[in-house]
Amino acid sequence: MNFLITGAAGFLGSSLANQLAREGHLVRGLDDLSSGDPDALYKDVHFTRGDVNDRPKLWSLLQDVDCVYHLAARVRVAESLLYPREYTEVNVGGTVSLMEAMRDVGVRRVVFASSGAVYGDQQEQPLNEAAAPNPRSPYAVSKLAAEYYVRTIGALWGIETVCLRIFNAYGPGQHLPPSHPPVVPAWLRQAMRGGSLVVHGEGRQTRDFIYVNDVVRSLTAAATAPDVNQLVVNVGSGQETSMRDLAQSILRITGSDAEILDAPRSEAGASRMCADTTLAAKMLGFQPRTSLEDGLRQTLQEDPRFAQAVRA
Ligand code: NAD
Repeated sequence: MNFLITGAAGFLGSSLANQLAREGHLVRGLDDLSSGDPDALYKDVHFTRGDVNDRPKLWSLLQDVDCVYHLAARVRVAESLLYPREYTEVNVGGTVSLMEAMRDVGVRRVVFASSGAVYGDQQEQPLNEAAAPNPRSPYAVSKLAAEYYVRTIGALWGIETVCLRIFNAYGPGQHLPPSHPPVVPAWLRQAMRGGSLVVHGEGRQTRDFIYVNDVVRSLTAAATAPDVNQLVVNVGSGQETSMRDLAQSILRITGSDAEILDAPRSEAGASRMCADTTLAAKMLGFQPRTSLEDGLRQTLQEDPRFAQAVRA
């Protein structure tokens, strides 16, 4: 098959692009490199640097494409509180630009990388797709708005759509920015350097951590699964892990004697998050395979940045 992946140089995009290329598909990648790294891509991924709002570029990249994976986005929840306009421009505007270009060219299917963040705080766990969204950040709002645009424009113009609500993905190659980095690579680095791991509110907040290879398997399944048009599907491990348990697993696996420090509960983010993956199992044949401990070990072994942290 022929694919276009937006955000192809990012953490999930590059893993997906490389997997599809390994399987012998023709893969084009688009990324503006605002955070992505094109060196993460295999040579046979056809990479173009560009903005997801650049419609002429999209028109040419979409020629003969069977399925688009739309992953390009600004992805930092905390940053979105400061820059909601930018998050709307890229995450919502970029999605609409892409959908318009797909309509113009005539592409059959799009798989959109949405987020578990759209659920926000909910009483009922695990989170089922039927729960009313309760987004708590401009990032989460932008993902929910983009889902609606994908489904609405898709229904109007006969483009098949699948929105995957991905929970907390982690694994080798995850972007590690200096401010507000994702918790798994940030804590792995801290543990390897002997720094402290700061947990808020006694570490009782929970998240559903899913290893990158499992996310990639859900994405590849979504390109060809039958009867998924217009669906929104959770992609998580189905395991609820408290931040304190995550910190302890990281210390155990790294053998680090770093300290866990307690800080007051931060108001940002939902208290609990765990995906109900029943629909993913039924519609995508998806079962997560990698436990948190195995995924953390693989991340440590395969990501050269943590080896550097040991030497530093
Ligand atoms: P990432 O930041 O590594 O990847 C996003 C990529 O998009 C980056 O390479 C960036 O350079 C690119 N990009 C940003 N703005 C762009 C623009 N205007 N035009 C073209 N490219 C642009 O993040 P990721 O973790 O790989 O996430 C990929 C997708 O999955 C995102 O849409 C994100 O919202 C979604 N998602 C990720 C997670 C997770 O835990 N990693 C969870 C839920 C949803």
